[in-house]
Amino acid sequence: MQKVTAESSQNEVDSIEEADKRSSCLTPTTTFEDVPKVFREPNINTGFRQPYQPWYYYPASIFQVHNECMNVWTHIFAVILMTHKLVSFSKQLDFINDPYTWPMLAGILSSIILYLASSFAHCFQSKSEMFHYTCFMIDYAGIGLYGFGSVTVHFAYCMEEHLYQISWLKDMFVPVGGFLAVATCGCCTYAKYRYQRPYPRARKVWQVTGVCFLYIWLIIPVVDQVFNCFINGFRCDDTISPHTKQLAWFLASGFFYTSDIPQRFWPGKCDFIGHSHQFFHVCIMMTTFFQFDGVIRDLHNERDVFEQRPTPTLWNTFGPVALVLLLEIVFIIIFREKCKKKLKSKNE
Ligand SMILES: [Zn+2]
Repeated sequence: MQKVTAESSQNEVDSIEEADKRSSCLTPTTTFEDVPKVFREPNINTGFRQPYQPWYYYPASIFQVHNECMNVWTHIFAVILMTHKLVSFSKQLDFINDPYTWPMLAGILSSIILYLASSFAHCFQSKSEMFHYTCFMIDYAGIGLYGFGSVTVHFAYCMEEHLYQISWLKDMFVPVGGFLAVATCGCCTYAKYRYQRPYPRARKVWQVTGVCFLYIWLIIPVVDQVFNCFINGFRCDDTISPHTKQLAWFLASGFFYTSDIPQRFWPGKCDFIGHSHQFFHVCIMMTTFFQFDGVIRDLHNERDVFEQRPTPTLWNTFGPVALVLLLEIVFIIIFREKCKKKLKSKNE
């Protein structure tokens, strides 16, 4: 009897210890001095999650106050927003039987993948140094893919006839867009691998140059529409307002991404809320929101124009998207191996 009692009290202690372990899964955050260099961010002093914690800690930590939680939540919100948009579009469009809607489906799915990849990266990047590199490579692949999704929708619905008649532009718009999307992922990934904290300016130049080339290319049809309206008064319809807002929000996102404002003026004061990366996330989310707001209007307004063009097929719509994704995965695998070797030689 005594033995049974001893056993049961031992079980009780074990289960209390287990419960303690579970309740302490939200390990307290720490300061920048206590985390490896790779996790540090300029002008952020506190709120760092501890690396090398069990797997469950990182998803659970989105309910904890730390310096990445707003970055995760802003893009979880963006996933919800864009999924809601997809559902509302699916009530207006026949995604199954109408091939002219497939570019829209590819574009909006690519934006959802971008936000999923970004939330995942910010959630898990503190797990280990190797995971930090892998997570941000996945984030960059999301950026490239979304860029290509934008190329696809802008080409399908926003390109005016006078641009479409320029044969080299019509023929090269999607292939060059695909190349620039993969190159963007490649430039960002290379810069992440090549440079160590504190990052030199060259790292941002690599990243921003890749994104700029892709953006300048993909936005041509939208800028053309806006300029034509403001300068020539041509086709000033209900698409101009969302297209203009899209451009403005993207410029704002570029400002926050490159300026490190406001934390550079108040180091340590924007650790949890008000950091430029959080503003950057919000601006990108608003860019996407207005982008698809404009594109759906183009889809409805310009239907008779693009129905004169070749009918999209599943192959020529989703094939290039899959190819871009595949090439990005190859990049990630190559650079992941390089990062592994780099970390190994650093630890030896
Ligand atoms: Zn981010």
